[in-house]
Amino acid sequence: MVGEALGPIGPPFASEAVQQCTVRIANESAEHLNMTPLQDVRSALRCECGDPGCRACVDITHSEYEAVRAYGSHFVIKPDHENSENTAVLRENTRFAVIDVVAGDVRYHVRACNPRHSWIDVRDEGRE
Ligand SMILES: [Zn+2]
Repeated sequence: MVGEALGPIGPPFASEAVQQCTVRIANESAEHLNMTPLQDVRSALRCECGDPGCRACVDITHSEYEAVRAYGSHFVIKPDHENSENTAVLRENTRFAVIDVVAGDVRYHVRACNPRHSWIDVRDEGRE
């Protein structure tokens, strides 16, 4: 069972958090391949809402994507794909929304699984 592998996190949000982290890793790879050094090109990346059945894509520029990835608990989703039980919408436009995972156990998990720098957010370093 998925929840058993996660330790402190349990149902009902376990599979959603695992899905969010899995899609984030896939998007990281896709974004790395799409990077063009001198252009802020728009990419179609997968929605990170955590619904295993979601196949939606979000249209996002490299700089917009990097702003999301600066925080280990932020995810980019298609507008209206948020789960209001464990996330808060930080901002949205017609192409995508940015959510923050706010529920305790789930937040802990998604930050621990951040492929860039676990536990250290830009705001924690005082750069913002
Ligand atoms: Zn979605």
